[in-house]
Amino acid sequence: MKIAMIGTGYVGLVSGVCFSDFGHEVVCVDKDPRKIERLENGEVPIFEPGLDLLMNKNVEAGRLTFTMDLEKAVTGADAVFIAVGTPTRRGDGHADLTYVMAAAEEIARVAKEYVVIVTKSTVPVGTNRQVGEVVKKANPSLDFDVASNPEFLREGAAIDDFMKPDRVVVGVQTDRAAEVMADIYRPLYLRDFPIVTTDLESAEMIKYAANAFLATKITFINEIAALCEKVGADVKQVSKGVGMDNRIGNKFLHAGPGYGGSCFPKDTKALARIGQEHAVPMQITETVIKVNEEIKRRMIDKLLDLCGGSFNGKTVAVLGVTFKPNTDDMRDAPSLTIVPALVGGGAKVKACDPQGRHEGEALLPGVTWVEDPYESADKADLVVVLTEWNEFRALDLKRIAESMTTARLADLRNVYSPTDAERAGFVAYESIGREGYT
Ligand code: NAD
Repeated sequence: MKIAMIGTGYVGLVSGVCFSDFGHEVVCVDKDPRKIERLENGEVPIFEPGLDLLMNKNVEAGRLTFTMDLEKAVTGADAVFIAVGTPTRRGDGHADLTYVMAAAEEIARVAKEYVVIVTKSTVPVGTNRQVGEVVKKANPSLDFDVASNPEFLREGAAIDDFMKPDRVVVGVQTDRAAEVMADIYRPLYLRDFPIVTTDLESAEMIKYAANAFLATKITFINEIAALCEKVGADVKQVSKGVGMDNRIGNKFLHAGPGYGGSCFPKDTKALARIGQEHAVPMQITETVIKVNEEIKRRMIDKLLDLCGGSFNGKTVAVLGVTFKPNTDDMRDAPSLTIVPALVGGGAKVKACDPQGRHEGEALLPGVTWVEDPYESADKADLVVVLTEWNEFRALDLKRIAESMTTARLADLRNVYSPTDAERAGFVAYESIGREGYT
């Protein structure tokens, strides 16, 4: 199969690389000349474990190329995937479809023979039909189908998720499009990964329902964690006991500083907006959005308590700024709420993150960046573990405590325990959903 992939971000690049690894001939297109230049030089513009090796293997095999020339990529393609961003539209929470519709129109202008135009971006219900209309208007004589193929990969584990998905969802209107999609994913289902074929609207809805459900699960345990702190329960034990129930499952049941990232915040807002537009309010999702914001605020209160009520003049070491480990993605990370509150309150913030510094420097003004957690803790009044990178999971806590001016630890990912902190010499320790000490 010949595939064109429009957009070489976290989803487009991983999908393009993995499709080429299936044996398909893939051309990845982006409008950003710096990205294409780096890709042509064998460099991966994002941090995603294993992606550089897999990409270069398939480039060398001649199955994977990069270009800004859309016409070249689309000509002769069996399918063109749209994997551009769908950020939250300013002001109303709706998904911004400008990039998707622009890509659809551009594809229509250069396509000459039958092609399946596949939306991989996360888009509101009804978008694929709109894509069809845009294409028809721009090129009335073109023979084409549209298909919805939402992506479920997680940053940080993207290749594995793409290669071993729980399921592949494909929404189509014709058998012809279903066959093309089946041919593209055949290497997966030969290995028994199921393809769920639906109509367009159901496929679009599956993606939002799945993300809203996961965001709800995280927020639920975060709210339970807040109650645990008041009643003397330990949320780690509670999560374990609850998650062992097969009907619930143990994934997405780890309490933390609130969900963030490039998907959950924008997709929950978009689902709430779709509900409002159809007069079916998504009350659970709307509450989840509100509670998640409160959880992030609660983290700031926790840090304030540890600092005796004021950040002014304090030195705070922040370990981790990306929204989760193994990515350089900072979109909607909890650090974007917490760090400005520290800086705004008069704290001197020394941050370190294995991959987040580049983005972090642009997004978090007033922060001093250091390479190493020990360097950031040196002469600090508080250490905050904000992202559970492996690099921060087995720190020499005694060394850290001894180097600090006042040894206080805010463990917002429950990596350590009150006993670990006490033994290491911390005078104060707080985590999530467990009793700490000050
Ligand atoms: P991204 O911002 O990392 O990448 C989008 C890319 O598209 C950019 O490189 C941009 O330059 C390019 N682009 C935009 N318009 C273009 C055009 N007309 N022609 C060529 N290139 C164009 O976005 P992402 O994180 O990869 O997300 C893409 C979509 O996938 C979103 O809808 C998102 O919700 C969804 N999604 C993301 C994830 C994730 O973990 N990031 C997971 C599942 C689904």
